[in-house]
Amino acid sequence: MKNLWAPWRMGYILSDQKNDGCIFCPGPDRSKDKERLILHVGPSTIVMMNRFPYNNGHLLVAPIKHVSGLEHLSRQATLDLLVGVRKAVEILRGVMSPEGFNVGLNLGHVAGAGMEDHIHFHIVPRWKGDTNFMTVLGDVRVIPEHIRETYEKLKPFFNTSRGR
Ligand SMILES: [Zn+2]
Repeated sequence: MKNLWAPWRMGYILSDQKNDGCIFCPGPDRSKDKERLILHVGPSTIVMMNRFPYNNGHLLVAPIKHVSGLEHLSRQATLDLLVGVRKAVEILRGVMSPEGFNVGLNLGHVAGAGMEDHIHFHIVPRWKGDTNFMTVLGDVRVIPEHIRETYEKLKPFFNTSRGR
């Protein structure tokens, strides 16, 4: 069975970010958020677009804390993470009208985690007949224009989210 979340694409992200460390650690500099496709940085969670998405609107939600598993998060941070996932699903539903979602975690390399040091939820909106998307994108290493467009579409909704 193939890994659902296309983790081989995460390798590209890693190679893009060699000098900047972990992509899920937001750092203090917010000026590169757009370039990094970061939609929201809250007190305990970060939301970004996957630049090598499984589907259009593929989002990643991670805790701010650089941890490899949920067991390393406080109870509150775990709840905040799930609330962040819920919010991302709500926004995607409102903006992109998907017919379903795949939401999940890959824990550990054998499970397909491309970046196992910093846990992150994948949120993939699904539409009937979308299974050809990956084939269409192929191994394109530049960010396709539609990812930028989707980013601009989603960003205002994350700007207004508070308390995460
Ligand atoms: Zn990190």
